[in-house]
Amino acid sequence: MMISDYSNTFFPICSFINALFVFILYFSKNNVQNKETKIYSYLVICGLIESLYYVCLTMAVNFVYEDWMYNIFQFLNKFLGIIYLIWMALLLYYTIVVTSNDEKKLKTVTKRLPIITFGFGLVLMFLPIELWHDPEKHLSNSYGLAINYLYIIISFYLVCMIIIVIKNRKNKEVNQKFIPLYTLTILITLSLIIRAVDPLFNVTSNILSLVLLVMYHTIENPDMKMIEQLNIAKEHAEKANRAKTDFLSSMSHEIRTPLNAIVGFSECIEQATTLEEAKENASDVIGASNILLEIVNGILDISKIEAGKIEIVNATYSTDELFDSTAKLIKARIGDKPLDFRVNIAPDIPDVLYGDKFNIKKVMINLLTNAVKYTESGYVEFKVSCVKKENICRLIISVEDSGRGIKPEDIDKLFTKFNRFDEDRNTTIEGTGLGLAITKQLVELMNGKIVVQSVYGKGSRFTVALDNRIELEKVENKEVSQDLDLDLSGYKVLVVDDNKMNLKVAKKVLERYNLNIELIESGFECIDKINNGETYDLILLDDMMPKMRGTEVIKKLKQNPNYTIPTIALTANAISGMKEKYLQDGFDDFLAKPIEKQELYKVLYQYIYKKNNGVKKVVEIKEPVVEQKPVQPIENTETLDLTGKRILIVDDNSLNIKVASNLLKKFNPEIESVLSGQECINKINNGETYDLIFMDDMMPEMSGTETFHKLKENPNFTIPVCMLTANAIEGMREKYLSEGFNDYLSKPLKKEELIRVLTTFLK
Ligand code: ADP
Repeated sequence: MMISDYSNTFFPICSFINALFVFILYFSKNNVQNKETKIYSYLVICGLIESLYYVCLTMAVNFVYEDWMYNIFQFLNKFLGIIYLIWMALLLYYTIVVTSNDEKKLKTVTKRLPIITFGFGLVLMFLPIELWHDPEKHLSNSYGLAINYLYIIISFYLVCMIIIVIKNRKNKEVNQKFIPLYTLTILITLSLIIRAVDPLFNVTSNILSLVLLVMYHTIENPDMKMIEQLNIAKEHAEKANRAKTDFLSSMSHEIRTPLNAIVGFSECIEQATTLEEAKENASDVIGASNILLEIVNGILDISKIEAGKIEIVNATYSTDELFDSTAKLIKARIGDKPLDFRVNIAPDIPDVLYGDKFNIKKVMINLLTNAVKYTESGYVEFKVSCVKKENICRLIISVEDSGRGIKPEDIDKLFTKFNRFDEDRNTTIEGTGLGLAITKQLVELMNGKIVVQSVYGKGSRFTVALDNRIELEKVENKEVSQDLDLDLSGYKVLVVDDNKMNLKVAKKVLERYNLNIELIESGFECIDKINNGETYDLILLDDMMPKMRGTEVIKKLKQNPNYTIPTIALTANAISGMKEKYLQDGFDDFLAKPIEKQELYKVLYQYIYKKNNGVKKVVEIKEPVVEQKPVQPIENTETLDLTGKRILIVDDNSLNIKVASNLLKKFNPEIESVLSGQECINKINNGETYDLIFMDDMMPEMSGTETFHKLKENPNFTIPVCMLTANAIEGMREKYLSEGFNDYLSKPLKKEELIRVLTTFLK
């Protein structure tokens, strides 16, 4: 028996049952909503309509007796062809969506594919179709130009899909999604061959519903999709978690390194016997504090930029002044490094421009500081030129150096925050990996562009292009921040802060303005003073105070309608959005701690000098009421005597070595230090012996852990090794102990901890 001996409704009914099965299966479950599943659901609906329509047609053909009926039937038959076309177009669209991430391309396809399909369908409606029908055997068949045309178009869609599949064959992620397409290709080819042999054997509809079933069981199963989505979410969560740990780890390292120096040198000051010794240590404390401040400011800058809180403030500015002051600052930073600093400012740059000079300066300083940091010898060139068009001046700022350059594979990562290359991470070159990320975002905020050219081992060039408006007039009176000297004798300032140390610092920075300063320690006192009729020209009010916060104090003060004293929020809480919050709370302005001289100047200038039109006031100056505690004599509680004991410190950072040596010195051991793991190994191999080794981990070339394992390869090595690292995040102690280290100390080094280790291993 030939297959075509079956009734003409046999295959359509099979196809309909299949399509209905897929329809029920698919829509009875909750589905993940995305573009792919949406298209698949259209495919399922379209497949069901098509198979139902086909069943109706094959049944209706038995009732075609008259010519007019024949004509209508021909038309309805062509309509089935159009449903096939829509189905194929949807499948092609599905393939494109699965393989392409290009939103622009997808948009174009979404617009064009329906138009093309509509065009194909329109042509189909005008082509002739013939019907062969045997009413007795219930057999029928359509043929003619329209049918041939339909098969050509279906093949065209199929070829498009095959090309996409071939193009993406290497993409593992989408490869498994092509299984239904392979099935479709094989089945359609097969059906064309069968149809050529037996024209009555039309299984196109069955093929479509079979493909839907295959799709359901391979890639469009709701459960699988859900698992896929969960896996994606899990991956995102893990990535975020890793980023957080990396962030914490790098912050711990970056912040603890200067902190280690601050704590260490401060202790040295405490125990210094001569003023000179104390002074020397104090200057180290200041240096480390500045680095720490730079890091915290960098983090704040980044968070502000990311929250969209950095404002671009355009104003007229003098170009000479901007470039000169930048060059001067960098010259000072170069110090005695053997660098030829070349400044090349084009003479045709307009004198006055309209732009954000503070942010331009920040960008230039970041680039120049990096050039100086990463260039050991040779030159650093600071070049500014311009291209003028009508009233716009394009500034082209380039910073070139003959430093170590950047590897081609690192260039893309250059502007990612916290990204420091391995070679920097462990060196003594201070940095946070934030500078370039901030620079790029600032340049983009100012609608500019930044590009990098670099040859590894030879040097780098960073070029920034920025458009500023040309101004013809001269820059009016100098910027407030240019000149930090102001005589405010006679004006009264009240500082409210619960922390004595902060009050002391505030007093110090305010003193240069000859102000009459009063210091108090609580909000209650402040309210009492104001209620008792005391008046001030300015109040600096800390926010985070126990019992009554600054924000509550200002609320209470403002309840009195006659209260007009400018009140400035003085707080270390300087994260993005804080200024706005404090202004909303009723403060007139905001000063972040540590107080920057320029910012303080601006506040004093605006709220005292300008407000009083620069008129001097002479009032009797009261002594500030800060309790001065008598200096406590330093108690030496240590009784540990390590005379004759030998200690080796391994650290690539000489500042860290100095801190550790200073702390160890008072126990009288013999201290030696080396700057790398290799040097440590050499010493041990040369037969040197020690009673204890302090080992840093993050060192260039060979980490502390690696050094330790190399030392342990020698079975005779028995010296206790204590890890001494700035990497102090959770779990590090356990990690190092499991590596085999005898103990673990984190930087900043605590005296008690150090004594514990010394007692354990040396007493
Ligand atoms: P960092 O605080 O580490 O300097 P940046 O974001 O400014 O952070 O720079 C990121 C990294 O880019 C640096 O750690 C350094 O490796 C590299 N880099 C930046 N500028 C230069 C330069 N002029 N020459 C060589 N390397 C550079």
